[in-house]
Amino acid sequence: MVNNLTTNGNKGKIAYFSMEIGLDPGMPTYSGGLGILAGDTIRAAADRRINLVGVSLLYRKGYFYQRLDSAGKQIEEPVIWSTDDFLVEMPQRVNVQIEKRTVQIRCWKYEVKGFSGHVIPVYFLDTDLKENAEQDRQLTDSLYGGDKAYRLCQEIILGIGGVRMLDALRYDGIQKYHMNEGHASLLTVELLDRQLTESSAKKITPKILATVRQKCVFTTHTPVEAGHDKFDMKLVKSILGTHPAFNIPKVVCCDESLNMTYLALSLSDYVNGVAKKHGEVSRNMFAPYVIDSITNGVHAATWVSESFAQLYDEHIPGWREDNFSLRYALGLKSEDVWAAHRAEKLRLLEYINRETNCGMDLDHFTLGFARRATSYKRADLLLDDPDRLVEIADKFGALQVIYAGKAHPNDAKGKELIVHIFEICKKLRGKIKLVYLPNYDIELGQLLTAGVDVWLNTPQPPMEASGTSGMKAALNGVPSFSILDGWWIEGCIENVTGWAIGMEPEKEIAESTRESDADDLYDKLETVVMPTYYQNREQFLSIMLHAIALNGSFFNTHRMMDQYIVKAYSS
Ligand SMILES: *Cc1c(COP(=O)(O)O)cnc(C)c1O
Repeated sequence: MVNNLTTNGNKGKIAYFSMEIGLDPGMPTYSGGLGILAGDTIRAAADRRINLVGVSLLYRKGYFYQRLDSAGKQIEEPVIWSTDDFLVEMPQRVNVQIEKRTVQIRCWKYEVKGFSGHVIPVYFLDTDLKENAEQDRQLTDSLYGGDKAYRLCQEIILGIGGVRMLDALRYDGIQKYHMNEGHASLLTVELLDRQLTESSAKKITPKILATVRQKCVFTTHTPVEAGHDKFDMKLVKSILGTHPAFNIPKVVCCDESLNMTYLALSLSDYVNGVAKKHGEVSRNMFAPYVIDSITNGVHAATWVSESFAQLYDEHIPGWREDNFSLRYALGLKSEDVWAAHRAEKLRLLEYINRETNCGMDLDHFTLGFARRATSYKRADLLLDDPDRLVEIADKFGALQVIYAGKAHPNDAKGKELIVHIFEICKKLRGKIKLVYLPNYDIELGQLLTAGVDVWLNTPQPPMEASGTSGMKAALNGVPSFSILDGWWIEGCIENVTGWAIGMEPEKEIAESTRESDADDLYDKLETVVMPTYYQNREQFLSIMLHAIALNGSFFNTHRMMDQYIVKAYSS
């Protein structure tokens, strides 16, 4: 079976559905972690010669371009990009019904090539056709824009339209439909309908359910309530109509509302969370469903910076094809690693100084924090006691802090968070160099995760399902200093691969408070992290080497993809 998944036939055996996929820095088809993970998954599948095909939506207006005014207020602008620069239009057309209107869908192909030349096609669905009503032409414009009705329409296009499009493209041997988050759950409804037709059954039988389940894999990505789509049943009826699946007692989801997570849970044969801890949290949230975990990774060749790629090419040949070989990084000379790090830090600081005129210094200890601006990620935890932070900076000479991250267009609290950081930034002027860079995207992510000295993450546990930016940092020898949540519970070996902030995860969550987390952060920054950087460079370098060797070699999508093949795709 495993061989079967990786044979050289040109037909997809695994159909991977995701609301967002980040493949090219020039294509604004992703918003953040979920989309980057999807892109890295597909790149790893290409490297591993897996017969996979990707399905997503084409966002003509993209996920927004973020401007920040002088007070830190976020201004969202559509991204103008030219689809034909990246994608090839396919001739196939399929239809879905939306509010009794027929909506025609076309798709655009993007090809991802693995290191050995294996190609994975990704199809972006698009309703901007003159045959469609004006409102339907806009259904694939914006990622996470619009209201509930707009989102439901998009999920009909992705789930139902996506399955039909793969049929039209003649992918007839698909063994698994992988739902990357619940946005794609409606594909199960289409698969049920198909089974009903094929078996000429009048109603959904246990056998039909079993047949569909056997084909479905579901990955859940967040414990945050808002991340699980629910649609009022009235809205569902008016837009999608009724479906016998919605009435099966205890099987599907749906009393007052259609819950996309439950739809996927009840119709998938294999379900997983994205880190060990997240698997556990998800099992508690969704008992009695059986939920496994496969810890996320990143695509090493995509996230290793130029200087480190050169170093690895010289000393660890084959690391791109075989990420596990990064374990040999322990044998690298520390002065070579330091030189590569300084080159990447210089690249980042030159960019920042050019863009912001804030005069960051190559010799000064630099912390990086970049992720979606939203309450539970607590970007401003570091700034809870600005006076204390200044004291610590003064004690060692200097501290520089670099922030970036977009707030979701509807997340008012997330937007306030950015404004708050701007305010403190002004207060600290002349004492600590602190910048918030606008428009965090793939390219800025590459610069930041390779160019800072230490990568900071301070989420409210247990909300961080996995987190992946610290894995990108590790591949570039940048250690993490983070709350023990998500992947860091698995990745942190204290003083060996980085440092933990706050309580051990076994302790009651209630025991750790924002205050105690901030205290611990300041204490450790003052007594461990900064002294190591400024006064014990050999020790700091040893931690950099272990970040690469222990974490870079493991928290990558090659290892992750291998686990999906064994656990999710081969049953
Ligand atoms: C890696 C990445 C993310 C996800 O990082 P997390 O640590 O999971 O928050 C989001 N946005 C961009 C641009 C990235 O490169």
